[in-house]
Amino acid sequence: MKQFQYTRPSTQQMALDAISKPGAKIIAGGTNLVDLMKRGVTAPDKLVDINHLPLKNITPTHTGLHIGSLALNSVVSENELVLQKFPLLSMALKAGASPQLRNMATVGGNMMQRTRCTYFYDTTMPCNKREPGTGCGAMEGFNRMHAIFGTSNQCIAVNPSDMCVGLAALDAVVIIAGRKGERRIPFTEFHRLPEDHPEIDNHLAKDELIIGVEIPDNNFAKNSYYLKVRDRQSYAFALVSVAAALDIDNGVIKKARLAMGGVAHKPWRLFDAEKWLIGKPISEENFKQAAQMAMAGAKGYEYNSFKLNLAPATINEALKHAAGLV
Ligand code: SF4
Repeated sequence: MKQFQYTRPSTQQMALDAISKPGAKIIAGGTNLVDLMKRGVTAPDKLVDINHLPLKNITPTHTGLHIGSLALNSVVSENELVLQKFPLLSMALKAGASPQLRNMATVGGNMMQRTRCTYFYDTTMPCNKREPGTGCGAMEGFNRMHAIFGTSNQCIAVNPSDMCVGLAALDAVVIIAGRKGERRIPFTEFHRLPEDHPEIDNHLAKDELIIGVEIPDNNFAKNSYYLKVRDRQSYAFALVSVAAALDIDNGVIKKARLAMGGVAHKPWRLFDAEKWLIGKPISEENFKQAAQMAMAGAKGYEYNSFKLNLAPATINEALKHAAGLV
């Protein structure tokens, strides 16, 4: 591993100054970054350890809940307010990684984790995300885990997070600090599609820091569900996952939120299917139609075409669970 400098700022301003230097990278839980460094996928000159910043708080606001970016995944998943107001987020967090990793991983780090495409981690293989312009090993390779939505001819990788799928479905907002002040962006606009620059995963600038996420209050707590389909029951990334949340009145859907994981370079919100469900009675027939609608534009590759069937089946199943039909 290349030698690097290490610094541990005690204030946000010191952290922002440190990360704006060339070759600097933030480290929090380190559950992904350390692997990437060991394998030579990334080689920062300087690590900026932000663990001493006061960003671990989980506090109610007048419109919802604020979760600090350094809150641990395990702590968030067991937080009383999260369990009571946003159980979908708790379910998504508990579906991710392993208990040991969730005890180290932070909310901000979870958002910043890189794809688990095996070609990205294998420095002997071409990969436009690791080394722009070298090609994509997965395009004609073993692409069983890869995307079916929003791909480009540069990259077909997926975002590996479960937590992010839950936060995208819950209309969360990302709070970002920069040297010129704070800005807020909808969670669904934080990650980006690969297009011509798969090396860029999200819209966070190099000199910015995620300081938290806010989830607005809603009426989804009673009828929400996170369903993750994977090769084994724990410590595996999603083949397809679905976050489903419904606001139901007398058997009729007033509002719906749907997002998928394991299918795109970002958490994939199903806006058209959500709209279509409004005013519909809860029924498997309606859920199946919404699921089919959500598949518009999907494209399979040699080894992942099974996702074209698995994804709608998972949406239907998640909606049935959320609605209490199973
Ligand atoms: Fe690299 Fe993306 Fe291709 Fe994977 S899918 S090899 S991450 S360019």
